[in-house]
Amino acid sequence: DSVSTQARPQDATSSPFQVLKVALPSPLRRLFDYLPTRQPPACGWVVGLRVRVPFGRREVVGVVAELANGSELPRTKLRAISEVLDDAPLPNDWQWLCHFAARYYQHSLGDTMQLAMPARLRQGHPMGGRMQTLWLPLSRGDELSLQRAPKQAELYALLCQHPHGLASRAVTAHGFTREQLLALQKKGFAQPQETTLAATPPAGGNLLASPSLPLNREQASALAVLHEKLENYHPCLLEGVTGSGKTEIYLQLIEALAAKGKQSLVLVPEIGLTPQTLARFKSRFRVPVMALHSGLTDLERLDVWEAAANGRALVIIGTRSAIFTPLKNPGAIIVDEEHDGSYKQHDGLRYNARDLAVARAHYHNIPLLLGSATPSFESLQQALSGTYRHLRLTQRPSRHPPARLELIDLRHQRRQGGLLPGAITAIKNTLKAGKQALVFINRRGFAPTLACHSCGWIAECGQCDSRMTLHRQPPLLACHHCDSRRALPDACPECGSGDLRALGSGTERTEETLQGLFPNVTVHRIDRDSTRKKESFEQILKEIQRGEPCLLVGTQMLAKGHHLPHVTLVVVVNADGGLYAADFRAMEHSAQLLEQVAGRAGRAAHPGRVLVQTLHPDDPHLGQLAEHGYGALARSLLEERRIAKLPPFCFMALLRFESPNEEAAISLAQQAALALREWLTMVNLAVRCLGPVPAPMERRQNRYHIHIMLAADKRSQRHTAANWLVQWLEANRDARKVRWSIDIDPQTL
Ligand code: ADP
Ligand code: ZN
Ligand code: ZN
Repeated sequence: DSVSTQARPQDATSSPFQVLKVALPSPLRRLFDYLPTRQPPACGWVVGLRVRVPFGRREVVGVVAELANGSELPRTKLRAISEVLDDAPLPNDWQWLCHFAARYYQHSLGDTMQLAMPARLRQGHPMGGRMQTLWLPLSRGDELSLQRAPKQAELYALLCQHPHGLASRAVTAHGFTREQLLALQKKGFAQPQETTLAATPPAGGNLLASPSLPLNREQASALAVLHEKLENYHPCLLEGVTGSGKTEIYLQLIEALAAKGKQSLVLVPEIGLTPQTLARFKSRFRVPVMALHSGLTDLERLDVWEAAANGRALVIIGTRSAIFTPLKNPGAIIVDEEHDGSYKQHDGLRYNARDLAVARAHYHNIPLLLGSATPSFESLQQALSGTYRHLRLTQRPSRHPPARLELIDLRHQRRQGGLLPGAITAIKNTLKAGKQALVFINRRGFAPTLACHSCGWIAECGQCDSRMTLHRQPPLLACHHCDSRRALPDACPECGSGDLRALGSGTERTEETLQGLFPNVTVHRIDRDSTRKKESFEQILKEIQRGEPCLLVGTQMLAKGHHLPHVTLVVVVNADGGLYAADFRAMEHSAQLLEQVAGRAGRAAHPGRVLVQTLHPDDPHLGQLAEHGYGALARSLLEERRIAKLPPFCFMALLRFESPNEEAAISLAQQAALALREWLTMVNLAVRCLGPVPAPMERRQNRYHIHIMLAADKRSQRHTAANWLVQWLEANRDARKVRWSIDIDPQTL
């Protein structure tokens, strides 16, 4: 166990003494010993208390993780905690999840807890950020006695319409005074209650603000399966084609649980938490729906956290980190677009919120619903093998099946802005029919790079093994890996020639070409550059939804989740990114992306068409995707993974070593691999150790990246080996000079 330290009093003669083992913000995988203050808090010394402690020369906020009698250090060497910050421990389910995540991902418990709590708590602020007073009616049975004070009688009647309480502000908004409230309280007809601001109580009576949709047959049978087991751990994969009405099933599951007073936690991808999605949930329910997204202030975040912890928020929607929201009455966890890469955190605690959702649902013994049109191979395999219930939606309510992909051959053909003549004709026809077309290109900027036509010089990043992207708006060269920038050269830095040319196409170039071809039509470009301002993406989406004929050019920001009812044509500029990449998951990820992009076409009343440009029209995987869809391709790729013993048929851990000094990184990785192999042989553990090898892009931001991969048939074997290696590295002197990190269940190399 990497997170706990054993208490072994060294001096047997001294009597044991009480020690608090505290998890602190530190990458070290251990706890720190402190003495309690003389005065214990009202709840006594318990694990989960948030405390402030001296740490070196600073004071930091930590969480009591264990209680012990004695320490490895003599009592005189220990310092006392400075302050207990709360009068009760942090929620149990939250503590459990932190312990679980720290252990599973081989991370420090202290750092895990810091990440998992709202910033306000991390900074040592008190709970209960903003309070408001709610006024509750009290029934005394002699209401007639109020008749002599008609205003008070009126106010009492108003409170009775809100049995869960009415905020002071709402009372004054109805034209009543504070004096009238206090008078009612004095007579025993009303009672104030302090509550956090986020916790607007349920309106009482009907849960729904707008009626749920009548389900089609497939939806109804999926929901019936969910209803079978509302009280137990019940993992389900909802595999439903794009636009098949998965969200409606989430809403009706939430409704069933809310009726029992139970909370639902809904995870959505980063890009998914647009006001559009949120509005759909909020407009359905009268019970409090709360969202955790990047637009919140720290105080608002704390409010939502507390409302979830005290059970007042019945529906909590959030992106990745929302998985750490405590729940008072957990009812279900729902993960929308469960395959989405944004559920995986790529630094620090490299957790996957989808996987933590599985563990958490199991811990709470509640249903788990994973939804996707393009399920991850991990989840699909669990469903196919019967570990998860497999629910499927194959039809769209709109009755137009998702369009199949039409592959068109990029070889030997002239292109304009990356587009083949056939694609341009199709765009023209779409506009003529009064519809919208979406052009998907997974490269922002004007062109992937700039080259000299005389000597062959190519604009390369000085700090990475990569080329610099040419941008026109504003004009510059930028590296998309380290963000370094350079002015555009007027002449070739090698030979002085002025014949510099843009190679290939990015979103800016395709936008420019389309605008030139269709001068009377609006071309919306959607990528990280064009949507830097917070609202601009929303505004563009709103405009698109108005339905005027227009063109959209964008990166994968456009591919996910959005309902674009007027788009009937999708053009994929280049499908070949994932076909021959080094990463064995590349095909899975690009098939997901292609299917999701294709799913934007023809979602409403009109059928859609999807054109996919490729240099490899004969590639069997692409062919299968085009002809039979993601589900079929995924099942045959899964067979290939089974034969090759790759995930999900094995469990991996990736050790990353990085240093400005290439030798140092390689040397440590070699020592580590050697030590691990010796140990594996010694203990006879069936774990494969691959590498060290340079990362696919070895030099990034002038740092060298070296990898070691562990692979095991069993999760527990992988855990044992990874744990051993982490401890070896923590104890190794050289390891302090090289930055290293461990990635359990890595998603990318
Ligand atoms: P998904 O989440 O699978 O992409 P959505 O839930 O967004 O699909 O549904 C796509 C569209 O179909 C939405 O406009 C939704 O309102 C509509 N829809 C879903 N279920 C039904 C139904 N049972 N009857 C009519 N329309 C439905
Ligand atoms: Zn040149
Ligand atoms: Zn760079």
